[in-house]
Amino acid sequence: MTIVGFCRSNCYSWHRASERCFQLSPCLSDPARRPSLGLKVALVMLHLIYVGVLFLFGRDLISKTKKEPWYTAIYLLLFAATLVQYFFTSGSSPGYVIDAMRAVNESHAISRKASMTSNQNGSLIIPVEDTQSGKVILGNNTISWAKLVMDMYPPGSSVRSWACTYCNVIQPPRSKHCHDCDKCVLQFDHHCVWLGTCIGHGNHCRFWWYIAEETTLCIWTCILYITYLKANITRACRWKDAIMILLLATLSICLIFLLLLFLFHSYLVLTNQTTYELVRRRRIPYLRGIPERVYPFSKGICRNLYNFCCASSSIYSVEPLPTPEELEAKSRPYTCLDVLSCCCC
Ligand SMILES: [Zn+2]
Ligand SMILES: [Zn+2]
Repeated sequence: MTIVGFCRSNCYSWHRASERCFQLSPCLSDPARRPSLGLKVALVMLHLIYVGVLFLFGRDLISKTKKEPWYTAIYLLLFAATLVQYFFTSGSSPGYVIDAMRAVNESHAISRKASMTSNQNGSLIIPVEDTQSGKVILGNNTISWAKLVMDMYPPGSSVRSWACTYCNVIQPPRSKHCHDCDKCVLQFDHHCVWLGTCIGHGNHCRFWWYIAEETTLCIWTCILYITYLKANITRACRWKDAIMILLLATLSICLIFLLLLFLFHSYLVLTNQTTYELVRRRRIPYLRGIPERVYPFSKGICRNLYNFCCASSSIYSVEPLPTPEELEAKSRPYTCLDVLSCCCC
């Protein structure tokens, strides 16, 4: 074999190996998401340092582990589950508009082909939620993406107003173009730098579970640090105590941030809002003019919670805009019955 041939075969096998690696970890295949790899490594290292120091210095904890192994086992299980949830959320798709459009248009094309041969109607891939019942409607006839999306806006709306100039797609309500991902995201919430991905309709639930787990882990770790300091701190300042106090102080700051984030996202879930809609409410055309206390996409706390946690609809599910009648009904003052039936927001 010549040197050129050897190099070519090596390059080919390297290319195949890197392709395989990219398939296994989607964050590496996307150039926009590669810089977040350093942050991911830093986050894992931080977790290991905080928990590792606890076991390294805390002899009481080790003796407690011998007496009550289940206590440490549950703590370590939570630690592992938090990291798994982090990577699970980070690798998940937020639901890109372009993918939804392809799915709908492919379905439309297949249906048209089938109707030409057998004269039978196909079905719509993308589920559309009914704002009144909250149920997912599956269309009996396949329709193209443009028609499907434009039907969700008030009659007479221009396609141009809702077209993304970057992706060249028509955006359904609640979606937004993310400049970090360079794609339009369905039910866009925010772009998370720590996770290296957008949070949207497809992964908001996973994100909520991740911050819930991270907050619980942080509270438990703080308790373990305080227990150590209570039992071991002496008047003579030891270097071990100084490190533990420093770590506890930084952990407490993280805990405050996580608790606020967890409460904020719980509020968003209960009212069926996104961070983007809440922050930029006055700049979003279809939310302009709606009173502040009215949550246009809310179907009541219980239904919102059910849809968020249990509804197993497609990640490409999109909601139409509420009709003027629905908005008027939501603008009325609450009655005792509304509060009792959890329909007050
Ligand atoms: Zn876009
Ligand atoms: Zn993004």
